[in-house]
Amino acid sequence: MDILIENGILIPMNIACHESTLYFKGYLGIENERISFISHDKKDADEFVALHSDCYRIDATGKIVMPGFINTHTHVAMALLRGISDDVPLMEWLEQHIWPVESKMEYRDVLVGARLGILEMLLGGTTAFVDMYPFEEAVAEAAEGVGIRAVVSPCLMDFKMEHFENDWQQIIKRFSNSRLVTIMMGPHAVYTLSEQNLQRSITLSKELGTGNHIHLSETAVEVENAHKKYGMTPTEYLEKAGLFKTPTLAAHCVVMSERDIEILSRHNVSVVHNPQSNMKLGSGIAPVKRFLDAGINVSIGTDGASSNNDLDMWEEMRTASLLQKAVTGDPSVIPAYTALQMATVNGAQAIGRKGELGVLSRGALADIQLVNIEKPHLYPHTNLISELVYSTHSSDVETVIVNGTIVVENRKCLSVDEREACLTAQRHIDNLLSK
Ligand SMILES: [Zn+2]
Repeated sequence: MDILIENGILIPMNIACHESTLYFKGYLGIENERISFISHDKKDADEFVALHSDCYRIDATGKIVMPGFINTHTHVAMALLRGISDDVPLMEWLEQHIWPVESKMEYRDVLVGARLGILEMLLGGTTAFVDMYPFEEAVAEAAEGVGIRAVVSPCLMDFKMEHFENDWQQIIKRFSNSRLVTIMMGPHAVYTLSEQNLQRSITLSKELGTGNHIHLSETAVEVENAHKKYGMTPTEYLEKAGLFKTPTLAAHCVVMSERDIEILSRHNVSVVHNPQSNMKLGSGIAPVKRFLDAGINVSIGTDGASSNNDLDMWEEMRTASLLQKAVTGDPSVIPAYTALQMATVNGAQAIGRKGELGVLSRGALADIQLVNIEKPHLYPHTNLISELVYSTHSSDVETVIVNGTIVVENRKCLSVDEREACLTAQRHIDNLLSK
């Protein structure tokens, strides 16, 4: 279906930061899966209608039209584990609460959890996500079924290698022609992988032409243990192992030395900042300003819903901005437009799709959200960029388009019965907790 979006305020996100030109009132046309034009001129819209007389027209009066968010680090199926353990540090949380339940989870549980998390993300304007989990085949199935773009990373951990080998092969078999699903390797972390299994990930990613998605220096304990075991930081260890010769997405990067930052910068490693998860687990605050100063591409992720406890990119973007101001004592750090870039264009760069995702431009894939700004908490309209980052809620998102298909309209997901998805998730977690 071809789509014309009319009279909205368009934020293309491909404009360098210059206050007066960041948005304009206009029109956007979608042909199949891509944006065919974006313009302030009504003549272009008339031309589009003349060529596509049966196009679906969306009146975006009073709405912002902007790229969907790219959540670059999550474990979407953990939506199923939301609330099962709070207020404990990372290792205790994993070893005593999360891993015991996860060890009982089967394909179907992951599918149901992923569906719930995907629904939450879509309703809040997230149109793509990067995931890591066992049973990523189920996450891919859920993503394609509901209609969201996904980069799935089958998880490599020493005690789950057999599972991993089956998972990535199944994903390639079933989803290599998918319009929505792509794959990255998911070496879990330095503390869960032997050198041999890390090398397996590197070799495989080179063979398949994928990148690697890893947890890196999330806590001080992780860094201390790497020093004890290898005599170096996790970042130094991964550089030595050759991981950074493949495109790498490093999540967290909370405890980082100057040398670590220099290494990431030199190898063009993208960092995913997950401020709320780091806060909730008491892991610390990533030195995002230093990353940006070093020219590192920084994107935003929510991490899993059980350490956040939601998948809301609006909140995550705001927290990223506010937290750096607080910790550096400098309110000019991560201004609103930078935060928006981190949630859109930087996310696209992090998954190797700069120019194709995270922007509204001719030829880009049509992953778009429409945000209703006719709300008391968003008035008066003086600076729309600041309004979006500091005042907007995920519930202000009304329409979401992924790959040229409308998946959310008037705040309702068109591809999944929301109530059913919630109740099914409840049944599955009740069952897992009673085992
Ligand atoms: Zn994570």
